[in-house]
Amino acid sequence: MKFSKLHKRISELEEMMEFDEVISRQIEESEGINKPILLEMKKVGIDRLPYSFSALEVFIDQETMSTHYNKHYKGYVDKLNKALEKRKGSDMELEQIVQSINRFTDDIRNNAGGAFNHALFWKMLTPTESRATGPVIQRIKKDFGTMEEFKKQFNDEATKKFGSGWVWLVLTNSGKLKIMTTSNQDNPLMDTIKEGGYPLLGLDLWEHAYYLKYRNRRDQYIKNFWKVVNWKFVNKIYVARTEKKLKESVKFKQIISEGQSRGCNRNQLEAFREVFNTNPDVKSTYRRGIDSIMKTVFKEYWYDQNQYEPGSFYGVYDFEQPGRSVINKLNTNYTLFCTIVNDVNTYLRHQGLDAINIVGQNPDVQIKETQRLISVIRDLQFRIFDTNSGTFSAIMSTLDAKHKQGDQRELDAVVNLKKIFGTDEVFKTGELGSGEDMLKGVDAYMQTPEGTKTMQIKPFGSYEEKDGKITVYKTAQVKPYKTDYLVFHNNRETIVFKNNRTEIVDGNYVFNPEDQIKG
Ligand code: MN
Repeated sequence: MKFSKLHKRISELEEMMEFDEVISRQIEESEGINKPILLEMKKVGIDRLPYSFSALEVFIDQETMSTHYNKHYKGYVDKLNKALEKRKGSDMELEQIVQSINRFTDDIRNNAGGAFNHALFWKMLTPTESRATGPVIQRIKKDFGTMEEFKKQFNDEATKKFGSGWVWLVLTNSGKLKIMTTSNQDNPLMDTIKEGGYPLLGLDLWEHAYYLKYRNRRDQYIKNFWKVVNWKFVNKIYVARTEKKLKESVKFKQIISEGQSRGCNRNQLEAFREVFNTNPDVKSTYRRGIDSIMKTVFKEYWYDQNQYEPGSFYGVYDFEQPGRSVINKLNTNYTLFCTIVNDVNTYLRHQGLDAINIVGQNPDVQIKETQRLISVIRDLQFRIFDTNSGTFSAIMSTLDAKHKQGDQRELDAVVNLKKIFGTDEVFKTGELGSGEDMLKGVDAYMQTPEGTKTMQIKPFGSYEEKDGKITVYKTAQVKPYKTDYLVFHNNRETIVFKNNRTEIVDGNYVFNPEDQIKG
């Protein structure tokens, strides 16, 4: 009686929570702007058992179910939440913890796995007959031949498994299905598991799951499992996982048009630009960190080299639109570096932690603070880079606007370059859709009798001739390029230099006056 009362209360609470979530999402969507940045620590919740303890008698007895749910499963969730409390700044969904488990302690690995596996397991079972139909069954037949053959292989793997663990049907990254076992409370989704994937169906092989009823006859327990498999649920995960890409990209287009950049003020931007251009280690630390986070978060969209575009750069492809995604520019964009620091600091202060302090520090401190920034972003990665996060909306709308601006700037510059060089044979690289832009910093090129000359086009504020040198100011990112020419363009003029003797002094480009090309 006690249990059923508690059970009822849990489901009431859960329904209320779900309702709140739906409402707040609807409000957010109707306003379309100002999504909140992250402030609260998350707790892992307890999933409701979707049937009574005695409902699965053909498979497992009431007493086992009750102990399994109330003692074992809830125990994992409680211990997990206790362990997570000690990690200030950690704030992820359970599935995301599981996906990046390599970064956590063994204690968290065991309990997060236990919480996640059991929450899945309850839903994978049903007391009402669930017909094996739908795309997942077609896929099983394709990969295993027949349902009988699939069940046989699943049973064999389960029977062979030594000690405590689970047997799984897994959707691999290549889209194929396979059967595998994991030990203890590991899950195929964990980044510590080699050649895992997304779990579609799982069976608990711990003695606590069957011993009361079956004793040492684990094979009987495995056989009876098939009587209560919730194929409807298995099919639902399969369809959701295989359609995920499509859904996310549709959702994504909305974000880009609705997002509001909160950003930084002009003084902050100038300060961060200076840090980026005077302390290359800050830039490389930030870049490496962001790259590895992108690789984790956008796993399904990440290519070390894009197979569709030979010679193209590593990064995220086909995310917000087909082809290379604008999110790839995040790792070198100081405007967003500044935005992220501001948002992360809002979060850190709210958690009672020290804010990230980069501007005005000595170079070593700047690097340490950048490392700390990256580790906070990493802890929050799945919530920051989520369509519901305000920071992410700001990032995407800024990148999208910058991308359009940059495109326009290059088009305008090409018009002027034709005048300066006195030829119509100047072209913008991106127009032909090649990957050259990212790979070599080529924005435009010119056909000449001596061959193709390449150009990098950058914005600039002003330039000054002093002591026989020309210094160009406020050119965004300052780094060496291998192009034949460096072009600077703003809404007043376009200036061009040969790029064979370019120097970088105090974070600015410096040229010999005789290298300037004048029309
Ligand atoms: Mn169990």
